[in-house]
Amino acid sequence: MTNHLFALVRERLPADPNKTFIETADGHRYSYGDLLVRSGAYAGALVALGVKPGDRVAAQVEKSAEILFLYLGAVRAGAVFLPLNTAYTPAEIGYFLGDAEPVVFVCDPARREALAAVTQAVPHVLTLDAAGRGSASEAADRETEAFTDVERGPEDLAAILYTSGTTGRSKGAMLSHDNLASNARTLAEAWRFTPDDVLIHALPVFHTHGLFVATNTVLASGGSMLFLPRLDAKLILSLMPRATAMMGVPTFYTRLLKEPGLGREAVAGMRLFVSGSAPLLAETHREWQARTGHAILERYGMTETNMSTSNPYEGDRVAGTVGMPLPGVALRVVDPESGTVLPDDEVGMIEVRGPNVFKGYWRMPEKTAAEFKADGFFITGDLGKVDPRGYVHIVGRGKDLIITGGFNVYPKEVETEIDAMPGVVESAVIGLPHADFGEGVTAVVVPGEGAPDEAAVLAHLEGRLAKFKCPKRVLFAAELPRNAMGKVQKNLLRDAHTGLYRS
Ligand code: ATP
Ligand code: MG
Repeated sequence: MTNHLFALVRERLPADPNKTFIETADGHRYSYGDLLVRSGAYAGALVALGVKPGDRVAAQVEKSAEILFLYLGAVRAGAVFLPLNTAYTPAEIGYFLGDAEPVVFVCDPARREALAAVTQAVPHVLTLDAAGRGSASEAADRETEAFTDVERGPEDLAAILYTSGTTGRSKGAMLSHDNLASNARTLAEAWRFTPDDVLIHALPVFHTHGLFVATNTVLASGGSMLFLPRLDAKLILSLMPRATAMMGVPTFYTRLLKEPGLGREAVAGMRLFVSGSAPLLAETHREWQARTGHAILERYGMTETNMSTSNPYEGDRVAGTVGMPLPGVALRVVDPESGTVLPDDEVGMIEVRGPNVFKGYWRMPEKTAAEFKADGFFITGDLGKVDPRGYVHIVGRGKDLIITGGFNVYPKEVETEIDAMPGVVESAVIGLPHADFGEGVTAVVVPGEGAPDEAAVLAHLEGRLAKFKCPKRVLFAAELPRNAMGKVQKNLLRDAHTGLYRS
């Protein structure tokens, strides 16, 4: 089996070409037949432009069915698809295009002028709007004859995806056909996807979650998607009677919980709710189960590793854990200093190996070498532990670990205690430079109605946590800085308050 990503799509293609692949919120329907014709047309147009196997085809396009056809067309043409976050400014796009050197760049018509200066070096700049009108689509329309997919080996690249940039500048993760195809097969099986599934898809399609986890899993099962441009809790609720599954980030669940209409009846036709990309609070998990009768299935992955772990489809979905390694994935927890594998329940660096793990960072050979062990394990940068039942717990990012007076403080432990206080919406705990302690534990709290003050937060934590874990100061903020995937950007918080303990 070559595990060409599009060979997988063909293998699972529904017999009926009229079967719905995507239905958009504004009522447009695209069948699997459309998928074949449109992706073939894009593939033909790309080859006609001179795109060769391994060339990058970059796109910054608002979410639409058409961008998925472009993605699959690029893959069929043997190119490397490179989607870019729609929130990126022209200056950021300029950086990524300089780094990736694509042969083709596709953008929305409205952005073309603003991007003109930074796209000069790209040989072909095309436009594409959400409805598929525009120069890219017209070029594709001219190439309508059936397209023969360009052969690629399983190790050849299908995509370069830049990481979310939560901890610093985004890195280009090189993903092979086998990385993507094998993970899609694994997830479709683990989560029991069938052609009867209808997935609510309200995630962006420039990120691993929306583009690969959600879309490829549906493609690997011949199912359908309800495509929403963005998270809209009311709209999602109204669509649930027509759907069977949803994949979302934790914000999806907290927003839906605010809808009075959410209850057992509203989710009667749904069989699965998946969460990932950021930690799901145990409280959200419990509230969701109480309101809907469904235990949210939490899983863990990264741009670099695709999905590594998942709670079980059948069996206990344990709140506060990301489940167990998926079939074919090896996961271990290692002492970062000594490199020895740690026993159950001990916190260390999570390392992962398997067909899901990427081929390295684009044009960063030294960083790639530094993040892989000699035996092929990838150092994720996430801290965690495995409990005696085999469930993986993510404790936080290595970069967010606070070392104060020689003691390790895991921010999540402190955040969990603060978040449990009435009147607290959420919190982020960070380490700031401190002359005596190296780092001073600091809490940033988003207050709600009847919020506690600094003294009350400190009094609450005293007795619940060891003294070295208790914040030296509690700050208040209207909201926490988040990136497009809803992840808290602690580096921005640290930068903003770096001088707090300097007198
Ligand atoms: P960058 O690497 O550019 O700083 P990023 O790590 O946020 O950004 P992604 O690849 O989108 O970029 O995110 C992967 C990270 O998201 C993981 O390393 C982990 O820290 C976090 N993550 C994903 N799923 C979960 C989860 N279920 N629970 C906790 N954290 C999660
Ligand atoms: Mg990362």
